[in-house]
Formats: sequence, C-alpha cells, structure tokens
Amino acid sequence: MRAAAFVVLTCVAILGVSGWREWAARDQVLKGAETEMANVARSLIQHAEDSLDLVDSGVVGVVSRLEMDGADPATIAKLRNLLEARKKAMDRVHSLAIIDDQGNWLTSPGTIASTLSDDSFFRYHQLSPKREAYVGRPVKSLVDGEWVITLSRRFNKPDGSFGGVVLAAIGSRYLSHFYEQFEIGRNSSVTLVYGDGMIIARNPNNDKFVGRNVGDTPLFRDASLQRPSGAYHFKSPLDGAERVSFFKRSGRYPLVLLATVDKDELLAPWRAAAVSRMLYVVALVMLIAVIGAVLVRQLQRGQRMAAALVEKEAHFRLLAEGSSDMVTRIGLDERLRYVSPSSSRVVGWRPNQLIGTDALAGIHPDDRPHVQAIVDAMKRGEMDEARLTYRNVHRQKSEVWLESTMRVTRKDNGNVDGVVAISRDITEQKQLESRLETLAIEDSLTGLANRRRFDERLKEEWARAYRERSSVGLLMIDVDHFKSYNDEYGHPAGDACLRVVAKVIAAEVQRAGDLAARYGGEEFAMLLPNTDAAGCARVGERIRSAVHDAGLVHASSPASCVTVSVGGAACRPAFERTAGMGALVEAADRALYAAKDGGRDRLMMSGEVANLLPRASGQ
Ligand code: GH3
Ligand code: MG
Ligand code: MG
Repeated sequence: MRAAAFVVLTCVAILGVSGWREWAARDQVLKGAETEMANVARSLIQHAEDSLDLVDSGVVGVVSRLEMDGADPATIAKLRNLLEARKKAMDRVHSLAIIDDQGNWLTSPGTIASTLSDDSFFRYHQLSPKREAYVGRPVKSLVDGEWVITLSRRFNKPDGSFGGVVLAAIGSRYLSHFYEQFEIGRNSSVTLVYGDGMIIARNPNNDKFVGRNVGDTPLFRDASLQRPSGAYHFKSPLDGAERVSFFKRSGRYPLVLLATVDKDELLAPWRAAAVSRMLYVVALVMLIAVIGAVLVRQLQRGQRMAAALVEKEAHFRLLAEGSSDMVTRIGLDERLRYVSPSSSRVVGWRPNQLIGTDALAGIHPDDRPHVQAIVDAMKRGEMDEARLTYRNVHRQKSEVWLESTMRVTRKDNGNVDGVVAISRDITEQKQLESRLETLAIEDSLTGLANRRRFDERLKEEWARAYRERSSVGLLMIDVDHFKSYNDEYGHPAGDACLRVVAKVIAAEVQRAGDLAARYGGEEFAMLLPNTDAAGCARVGERIRSAVHDAGLVHASSPASCVTVSVGGAACRPAFERTAGMGALVEAADRALYAAKDGGRDRLMMSGEVANLLPRASGQ
C-alpha cells in the first residue's frame, strides 16, 4: 500500500514539476513579449511626437512671417510657394495651410467647412489667446477623403487681435505605412489613438478603423490604466480572442500608442513545444506507473505469500506439536530436519537429540531394507505417499512398533525436497493383534494348536500333498478311561493331566511341518506331512509309549497309569481318486476305535483295520 502511494506520488510530482516548468516558460514568453511591445510602443509614440515637432517647426516659421509681414495677398502668395515646397519635401505632411480670421483658406480655395470634416481647432484659436501649438482631433479631409491629425498655431494681427491660423496636417496613411515596418504578428496591431479615444492610424486595416472611437474601452475608462505606460489583458469583443495590449501615452501631446498582440499567436510556439515536451513526460510517467504497478503487485504477492507461509508454519507447528504422534521432517540426505516434541514419548529421545541424525538409524535391521526402499522411491519421486509399520529402538523400552505415514514434500519447482513422516507407537496394538492371532489358533488349556488350526492345516497339507504327489499321515490320540480319571481325581486334576499329555505329545513333534493339536475333549491329533504309513506308525508308537512311560497315576486304569490309544492313517491324495481329506480323518478315527476295541494303550494303523468290521457295527 505504501509502495503504491510512493509510485503515485512520484508520478504526480513529475507531472507537477513539469507542468510548473511549462507554466514558468509561458510566463517568460509573455514577459519577453511585454518588453518587446513596450519598446515598440515607446519608439512609435516617440515617432509621433517627433513628426508633430517637425511639422510644428514649419508652422512656427510661417506664423512669425505672417506676424512680421502681415497677411496681405503678396505675402500670402510668397508663403504659398514656400508651403508647397515644404509639403513636397516632407512626406509625412498631408497639408500645410493658412486660414484667415474668417475661416477662409488663404493658400488654397475654399472654407474650412468645405475642406475638413471638423473645424474645432479653428474655433479653439479664435477663442483662446494662447499661442502654443494645438493638436486637434483626427479629421477627415473633404478634398481627398484622407484622415489627418492637425497641428495648428494662431497668428495675431499687429494690434494683437486674432489674425488667423497656420495649420499642418499629418496623414493617417503615412503613419500606418510607417507602422507596417514593425513585424508584430498576424493577429496583432499597432494603433495611434487621440486623447479622447478616436483612432488616428492603425496597422493593419487602417482604412477600416481610422476615425472610430474607442473611448469606451478600459484603456480610457479604467482608473488603474490612466498611467504613462503599461499593459492590460482583454478579450476581444469582435472575435473573442485573448489579447494583450501595451500602451504608451505621450507626455506632450494628447496621444496614446497601443500595441496589441494576440495571446494565442504569441504563445503558439511555446504551446507546440510544451505539448511535445509534456507528451514525453506523460509517456515517461505512464511507463513509471506501469512498471510501478507491476512492482507493487509483485511486492504485495510476496507479502501475501510470506504471511501465508508464516500462518502455514504456525498451523504446522500447532498440529505437529500438539499431536501425540511424532512428526518428523527428513531431508534428502536422510537426516532429521525437524522432530516434534512427542518424540520423547514415542522413541524416548528429545527432538534436539534427534535433529541432524540419520532418520533410519533406529529401525530394526530386519525392517530397514523395506523402509529404505520406500524412502528411496519417494526421493526419486516415484511415490508420493506410503504407510508402513516397522520396529524401532526405544531409549527405555527395548523396542517399539511404529506405524509411519510418509509423504514427500516438494519445492515450488516440483522437485522433491524431503519427506514428512507422522509416526505413532502401535506396539500395544501389535501385541493385541498377535495375542488375538494366538487365541484364534491355540488351545488355551494345553497350548497346542486348536481344532480350527488343525482343520486349516489339514486342508493346506492335503492340498500340498496332492500337488507334490506326496503322502500325508494323521494320528488320532485319545486318553483311555478319562471319564473315570475325572471321577476319581476331579476335573481340575483332569485338566492338569491333559496338559501333561499334551506336553508329551508336543515333545514328539520332530519336523517343522508336523502339527500337534487338541482335537477336542481328551482327544488329540498329530498331522504329519510327507509321512507314509510306516513313519506314521513310528511316531504313533512313540507317543503311546511316551505317555505310558510318563507314569501319570491312574489307579482305576488297568495299567494303573494314564495311557492313550492311537489310530493312524496315511495316504497319497493324488492317488486316492475318490477320497477327500475327510476320509483320512475317518480312517484314523476308525483305527483309533479299533485300538480301543483292541484293549487300549495301543496303536492301530488304518491298514490293519481294513478287514475289521466298521466301528458302528463293531461296538
Ligand atoms: P475311553 O476313551 O477309554 O473309551 O473311555 P473314556 O472315559 O476316556 O471315554 P469318554 O469319551 O466316555 O469320556 C471322555 C471324558 O473326558 C468325558 C469328559 O468328562 C472328559 N473330558 C473331556 N474333556 C475334558 C477336559 O477338558 N477336562 C477334563 N478334566 N475332562 C475332560
Ligand atoms: Mg474320548
Ligand atoms: Mg477317552
């Protein structure tokens, strides 16, 4: 936000400074024009004064001649020639004339009234005894229609009374031609104005303006402008254009010179230059604004990302540190980068003891290859997530089971930069599992396999023997006269007896594949894979004699000790086309009953039973 304000401020400052500079340049242009026009006005008013002075010197000469020589026709005739010569010599002189006390033109025919449009100068001299030169209002010559400005002096008769007037006139056209020499611009003008506001001469358009009265303009009406010289700004009532006028009043004659310039025209070169300069500045400012906006956007995104990261990390810590699971972060070098506080509980070491160490160091050697393979796959990016259980050392307990959920973490460019593992202690769960497993397959009284387990194994071994075309043997073992044992020694003693018998039977298990099981009640079974009838008989006989030799006292038994009867059977499933495994059990069972029938404490094999009567009819 502050960066955006800075960019805006920079742009505004650049625009402001440039604009201010242009405005100053504009002022400079106006100031320069003011000086220049003031000079023009001063020179031209000077020129007007000099012109009047020049013609006045002629007038003064004529006046003195008239007063010395009198106004008789001979003198007038001489003077007329002189005046003609003078007029010819000076181009600025429109006319030079002598007028008698009646207003008649002595040097040329006609009266004033028929020669000039206004004769106020004549009446002035007639009434005033003053002998100074009098500059009159512009008047129009009725002879050639030209506007002129008059300078006149009175001459007296020898008795001192009014004798007439000597008049000189300067043509408006002469003046306006003279003004043409000054180049002041197309929409600008130079005007000589009489004291009452009447225009004497103007450039350009002299003919159009001469004789007009501008007495109602500010120059003549504003009290503030009634000074010798100055400038004023106004809007032209004719074309609405802004103009600046510079004026200079004559100190000696009722004349004002007005130089007027068009502001637009005056400022045009400045404006063109200023516009092109400002365009560059605006382009620059826009460039700055665009670049600034991009930078500000990037800055803001960066700030947002940083804030999000901080928040994310706070969340992560909250979760990691509040969790009872151990959260770890593993780098690509497989060292621990982060370990959450619950490590003390899960593996017995505090986080600071673990950080920097090999992440897989505590894993049980048997489980490590598996874990290592998964971590390697994750590091290569082939696997994103995995859940694995393994054994790990614990500082106090010998070993714990851990379940870890692992997940790869990636950098912004998608490359794997480590693994996060959330590990929990599942030792209790594992123990429970194995206990349940045992419960499911073990007989609780004797610790031998239970009937379920026996059935399962029988099925497996039958199938294997079928595939391998091998033989499978089965012994069924039943404790003799056990009902009476119970009756005599009590049920708990019966249980103890069964446990001993089971132990004796279990001791006879010699091959890894053999399985001793409690088949039910006081009946046991021994599954003997890969065993033929002879091998089966050997094991059966060993069991029988081992139980007998164990010498468990059983007073009411004929042998005075606990004995068992054993029935054995063996077969090769691949060659028994019709029989299933049920037949094997049945055969062993039949052999067992045959052993019972045969007097107990003996072994009978199924083959020996073949010609005996079936159990149902034999008993
Ligand atoms: P024989 O087998 O010699 O024909 O006679 P027996 O007395 O052993 O036969 P029977 O099957 O009639 O009796 C089995 C007895 O075993 C019945 C039952 O009370 C006893 N028994 C079965 N299971 C258990 C057990 O788990 N504990 C105890 N104490 N006795 C059991
Ligand atoms: Mg029985
Ligand atoms: Mg029995």
